[in-house]
Amino acid sequence: MSGVREKKLGSLYRRRVWPSVFALIFFAVACLATFAVFLYLFVMCIMGTKVVGHYEDAQRVSGILSALMDGGDTVEEAAEEMHDYILGNQDICVVDRNRNIVFLTGDSEPDFTRKLQFKVGREFTAVADSKSFLAPDEGMRTIQSIPVKDIVGSVFDPMDEKETRTQWLGETVIRQDYWLRVPFRDETYALYVKSSLQAQRQDIIYVYLFGFGVMALLLIPMVLLFVNTIRTAVLQRRMSRLIYLDTVTGGRNWLFFQNYAHRILSRIRNNKKAFALVNLHLERYQNYRACYGVKAGDELLEAMSGFLNARVGKNESFARYEGADFGMLLACTGESEKERQENCRKRVRSLLAELTGLRPNQKIHFHAGIDMIPPYVDKDGKWYHRRKDADVEQLYTYANAARLESDTVEEQRIPFFDQDMLGRQKWERWVEDTMETALHNGEFQVYLQPKYSPASGKLVGAEALVRWVSLSTGMITPSHFIPIFERTGFITQLDDYMISKVAKMQAEWMIQGRKMIPISVNVSRAHFAQEGLAEHICGLVDAYGPDHGLIELEVTESAFFDDKDILIETVKQLKAYGFRVSMDDFGAGYSSLNSLKDIPLDVLKLDGEFFQGDEEGAKRGEIVVREAIRLARDLDMCVVAEGIEKKEQVDFLTRQGCDMIQGFYYAKPMPVEEFEKKVEEDA
Ligand code: C2E
Ligand code: CA
Ligand code: CA
Repeated sequence: MSGVREKKLGSLYRRRVWPSVFALIFFAVACLATFAVFLYLFVMCIMGTKVVGHYEDAQRVSGILSALMDGGDTVEEAAEEMHDYILGNQDICVVDRNRNIVFLTGDSEPDFTRKLQFKVGREFTAVADSKSFLAPDEGMRTIQSIPVKDIVGSVFDPMDEKETRTQWLGETVIRQDYWLRVPFRDETYALYVKSSLQAQRQDIIYVYLFGFGVMALLLIPMVLLFVNTIRTAVLQRRMSRLIYLDTVTGGRNWLFFQNYAHRILSRIRNNKKAFALVNLHLERYQNYRACYGVKAGDELLEAMSGFLNARVGKNESFARYEGADFGMLLACTGESEKERQENCRKRVRSLLAELTGLRPNQKIHFHAGIDMIPPYVDKDGKWYHRRKDADVEQLYTYANAARLESDTVEEQRIPFFDQDMLGRQKWERWVEDTMETALHNGEFQVYLQPKYSPASGKLVGAEALVRWVSLSTGMITPSHFIPIFERTGFITQLDDYMISKVAKMQAEWMIQGRKMIPISVNVSRAHFAQEGLAEHICGLVDAYGPDHGLIELEVTESAFFDDKDILIETVKQLKAYGFRVSMDDFGAGYSSLNSLKDIPLDVLKLDGEFFQGDEEGAKRGEIVVREAIRLARDLDMCVVAEGIEKKEQVDFLTRQGCDMIQGFYYAKPMPVEEFEKKVEEDA
């Protein structure tokens, strides 16, 4: 999964639900605020109308009082007189500057400690009534304290007469007394007129109806928005499940794994912990699908997924990468790197063992590779930074690269990724990338290693060995690139090149009148798969025209384990063309004496391994060599001993009648010019 695709999917996931949730919350708050404001304004409007009425009444009282005082009355007299006019209706209270009551009617008085200042169109000043204000226990109730059923309950009662209903609606359910201050002409006194804020049943009903109306209006979009949010959330859950679903195993997919593993690794509290990224690979999965069917193949992966799911713990995760490859993030315990590696290896090994038993009647094999992720320390030794740059895909690639190094099923080796491994793999890449250009540029050179006859001490032959003299890297020996060439098949091109070079060299020597020395060239086992190999080689040599008898073709012993019939056929044809054919590296691997019986070879090259090892080994080696030489002689084969470095070995081989010796004792592989000089000196 590419980073861009992953980011896009991630943002898709994040973007969906939160805007709806925020919109819902915002709208709900806005609705409540609007509702409260509307209700407040509505109530104020009703109350305001009443207060304005009271104020006008009070102003009238003030006017009369004022008029009486104009007629010469003192304030007390005027109030006394005034009281007669308004008797029974409105209580009044006259106070002096110090709020001492000068005149008061009624059984209650203003409570100056509870002053009210409010605005309904204009500013009013009032004080609470000492008796009734906010004292619901005396039959007065505030709006909040009236149960709804008191107000609306009997509305639904059958009402026979219209009049009774009007009466019922007009009943006062709330009474709140207060004292309104009105302007009074003489500033030495203040006039307070007692008024009563009353709410009739119908007022309350209006307020409730209005409230319900506004609520209902706001509730509809809110419900719609709520439903939409829920739908979005459900949709998104489904979508995220789909985005993160592995359709084959039914578990979480690779995208999920990448995100989740990254989250685990980048948690600050996980910095001190070590982890391992593991690549689990089911061998020959395609073969399994071919034999048991696609469905059975999928079911196997599903079972693997279920199994792994039961085995991963907290701070761990896994997912299928592709095919039958799984990636796992495992937490590792242990004090040292070595201990952690060991623990991790043990755990993975037991996982593999259990997985192998997943299908009791079918043989399935697994391989694994591990990339350790050590505890995370910053450059300055602090822990507070996150392991943000952890690239899960890259770590998995390393684990995979490690796994590729274990290709023997029986061994159940579980390799760990390290920098050497990366170095090796980078080297392989480099070789693969540059080999063709190098061949084209003539960077491959023929080196010749002389073969001597121990009996005469003369130079009697040579083996052509390749050297890569790279323009960028310098001299590279065959062991660094031949295995890669063999794997990629490029070796056949190199062999052709070497055969041509040697043929050309021989032809030149002939023209120059030099001493003709037989040269052997290596032919890789990969070459024998090619049809008409003998003709092909013949064609390469004939392009320059040297005598076929001067060219020997070395076939490694291991090639005899491939398709034997083709090999025998090719060897016979090569011999028919007049080339000599030798068995290279005899004794290096699993020797089969049988191959000597079947294939009419000219030369047996004894591998240097026979002569290595401790004293005891060398002694036993001598016995084998003695017998091998006797065997070759009986089969009419010429014997060449390779890798000979010591005089004793030469003496021994001379005694045994070995025909030729090739080894550092005599000479190392050398460039052609040097070899030509050596031949001249030897003559
Ligand atoms: P080989 O065919 O067995 O070649 C002999 C190797 O043994 C050479 O290594 C040679 O340098 C080395 N050798 C010779 N005498 C001694 C000795 O006394 N002591 C020690 N320690 N080593 C000795 P080299 O040149 O590095 O080649 C390694 C292998 O690469 C060859 O093993 C051969 O299998 C392959 N190779 C080399 N050139 C070619 C080629 O042109 N084509 C193919 N197909 N393979 C080649
Ligand atoms: Ca050889
Ligand atoms: Ca050899």
